[in-house]
Amino acid sequence: TESNQEDYVPLYQNWESFYTRNVYRRIRDCWNIPIASCAGSHIDVQERVTHDHGWNFEMTGKTLKVMNFGSYNYLGFAENKELCGRDVQRVTEKYGVGTCASRQELGYLDIHRELDSLVADFLGTEAAITVPMGFATNSMNMPALVSKGCLILSDELNHASLILGSRLTGALIRVYKHNDMKDLEHKLRDAVCEGQPRTHRPWKKILIVVEGVYSMEGSLARLPEIVSLKKKYKAYLYLDEAHSVGAMGPHGRGVVDHFGLDPHDVDIMMGTFTKSFGACGGYIAGSKRLIRHLRANSHSAIYSCSMSPPVTQQIISTMSCIMGRTNPQEGRRRIQQLKWNTRYFRKGLHERGFIIYGNKDSPVVPLLIYMPSKIALFSRECLKRGLGTVVAGFPATPIIEARARFCLSASHNKEMLDKALDIVEEVGELLQIKYSRQPVPRW
Ligand code: PMP
Repeated sequence: TESNQEDYVPLYQNWESFYTRNVYRRIRDCWNIPIASCAGSHIDVQERVTHDHGWNFEMTGKTLKVMNFGSYNYLGFAENKELCGRDVQRVTEKYGVGTCASRQELGYLDIHRELDSLVADFLGTEAAITVPMGFATNSMNMPALVSKGCLILSDELNHASLILGSRLTGALIRVYKHNDMKDLEHKLRDAVCEGQPRTHRPWKKILIVVEGVYSMEGSLARLPEIVSLKKKYKAYLYLDEAHSVGAMGPHGRGVVDHFGLDPHDVDIMMGTFTKSFGACGGYIAGSKRLIRHLRANSHSAIYSCSMSPPVTQQIISTMSCIMGRTNPQEGRRRIQQLKWNTRYFRKGLHERGFIIYGNKDSPVVPLLIYMPSKIALFSRECLKRGLGTVVAGFPATPIIEARARFCLSASHNKEMLDKALDIVEEVGELLQIKYSRQPVPRW
């Protein structure tokens, strides 16, 4: 509307970006999967037909069952009723669904205490604190760690929750190129001796903020190099393992486990329970001193209700399974299955001539569509053939790097993977996006 446009003009100063943003907001309406149900290996979606090249759509009222290659259900726990369902039900009967109090008041139950110490045991740290929301784990805890007079060095592809958290700290933020160690070192060197004698540190603290697996690229943080840089320049390291905990490493402990590093090398280990654990919430793990400080100072601990009891139990059950404490083989089997599925699917896409990004073991698989005009069509053609996936474009990706993002799960079987690969191949041929056999479009 007119008034909407006026709202946005001051933000996007020139006509081009104002125009692009509005157009993209409109297109995004059309490409997303409408009303999905549950995060299992199959989902029900509401069918819709689009008109005017995807600019308008209407629901047909029909429900389609499609394979789910879009949710972050890495270990398949989101659909596991036999494994944790009974425990979750028992806890719901005992405590109900909400605690109606923060963990500082009357909301800290025995299962919360159990989860805190389980997370620390799992990750090999001294202590941990859990938070009811993953996004808030970053955005509400970072301001308790750094403040004005500190410097944050942030990877350019960090998640919105890290960006918001960093901004709320009041510290100076410098963004370095994605996974570019030269740029990071350059900025660190600048920071420790900016016009000062080498012995003088102008910043109270320097915090490097990275993710384990980047959710739009499927790339891994170059953790061994980052750890040695943070030691060399006496900085702190904040690692977000939202997409890697459970999904990476031989024991499912994330990228720290994948690279075989000592967990004590990472000062602040953050992760969420919304992906591999099929639950909700997040954690911060580290030294006892760090966690004691967060318990007393973090807004999420003081002013927010504690985690819902059934959710807490779901995490306890799935984490115990991954650790082999219950069902000794099941956790290991799921981790290995996810790894096998990931490599098989990545290899399949590569052999079929698609350009994909990311590490060979990363269960996040971005497939490059490049052209923004093909985003909605890709999603729709896949849905029609029984494959649900997520497509993304600007501003989540650079404008000319539109992509589809597949998320693998241990609950996918070989038959599903083959079927998904066939569908992608068919749609890829239809839309002519097999770029590794053609020149990549130039802009
Ligand atoms: N960190 C990263 C890297 C994420 O990708 C996300 C969301 N997917 C979050 C934090 C926020 O987590 P949640 O969805 O659990 O709130």
